[in-house]
This record gives sequence, structure tokens and C-alpha cells, in this order.
Amino acid sequence: MKRVFLVALSFGALALVLAGCSLWGFSGSYRAPWRHEAEAQCLASGRLKTSAAITPLPELDHGQLDCGADHPFKVAAVSNGMVELSSAALLNCPMTVAMDDWMERVVQPNAATYIGQPVVKLKLLGSYSCRHIAGVASVSEHAYMDAIDVGGFIFADGREILVARDWNGADPVYRQFLRMVGGESCAVFNTVLGPDYNSDHHDHFHLDMAARLKSHRRVCKGGQLYDGPMAYGLPTFTGSITPGNEDDDE
Ligand SMILES: [Zn+2]
Repeated sequence: MKRVFLVALSFGALALVLAGCSLWGFSGSYRAPWRHEAEAQCLASGRLKTSAAITPLPELDHGQLDCGADHPFKVAAVSNGMVELSSAALLNCPMTVAMDDWMERVVQPNAATYIGQPVVKLKLLGSYSCRHIAGVASVSEHAYMDAIDVGGFIFADGREILVARDWNGADPVYRQFLRMVGGESCAVFNTVLGPDYNSDHHDHFHLDMAARLKSHRRVCKGGQLYDGPMAYGLPTFTGSITPGNEDDDE
């Protein structure tokens, strides 16, 4: 009886090892297959507009979490070099393309409407970071160069609108600008988190392109719109986010 149990145990262990091998393969990155596909499709699409501000870097695989990307880009500015980043970001192709898209479809239209002038610089609080989500076991999208944290917007006349100061600040126009940008960002990104999501995001919008392969949903917690329809189609607003499942964010 005892021997049968041991044999069964050994077989189970072997099966686990084999399953692990077939899941991860024997070589290369452990990053999920969709990440490789998303990068490859993005590059093949021709949508990445390189400029002097966007430098391709060699593949980066790093750390026990298999952080990194197949085709990283060091991004110093977006919108064809017109909008500077306060610090260079390390982003994959889908995020680099999405940033251009975001500026064109979400940020600049709202800048024109509410402030009457364009955004010329983004204040970044972070991009690539090989880590887990704060307080959660899941690995952050930041670990795959698939996320960015934007803390503020600097306009042509030098004025700044900062999430930390202005989300609940005295100026109603600034508050509305931030909520419109946060709300509409889900027309571009798969995850948008802002101050209303939790206190970890009191000072920035977290934007990422995470593919939720089980639920196929976007997470839109960037702000409620004050009025009017979404400018670019209505994203799927979701209910509560349960920490600890595949849909962990940040
Ligand atoms: Zn973030």
C-alpha cells in the first residue's frame, strides 16, 4: 500500500515536471506567449513610428520574474517627438504605439477643449520595473514594459496639471480635464487606474496593455466622465476588481 502510494507520488511529480516543460519550453523567456505575439504583431503592423526620440534596444530578459521584453524601446518623447517625457520610458511596441494613440485621441483633444492649448510634456512617475504589484503576488505589467505611470501634464504655456494636486484640487476645469482624460483613456489602453481606484494611484494614472485572456475585459478605473459620451467609443466599464486573480492590476 505504502509502495503504491510512493509510485503514484513519483508519477505525479514526473507529470508535474513534464507539464512544466511543455508549458514553458526548454529555452528562452518564460513570459506568457501572448506577450511575444503582441510585440511581434505590433512590429509587423508598421504602426510604430520611430523618431530620434525612440531608440530600439536589444531583448531584455531579467530576473526571476522573467521581466523584460523581446523588443524594448527607450522612449524620450511621443507624438513624433512633439511631446517630451520627463524621464525616458522603457516600453514595448504596443505601449509605444498606444502612447501616440492616446496623445492624439484622448489627451490633446481634451487639452484643446479644456485648456485651449496642447500638452508638450508628460510627467512620468515610472515605466519599466521588475516587480510584483504592490501587496499582491502577481507580477506587475510594469515588469514587461507594458505599462506606464503618468503623473501630470505640462502645457505649451508652462502650466502643469498634476494628478496628485489637481484631481481633487480647487480648479474645476483641471479636475474635469483629468477625469475626461482618465475616463477616455480606456478607449486606448486595456487597463486604466487612477486616484478613484485606490490610494496607491492618488498621484498618477496607471496605463497598460494587459491582455486578460480569461475575461477579455478592460479595466477602466481612470475617472468618471462628467458629461457627454465617450469621444471614441464606449469602453466596457467593469465592476469590482478582486485582488489575487488573473486581473490584478498596477
Ligand atoms: Zn503603474
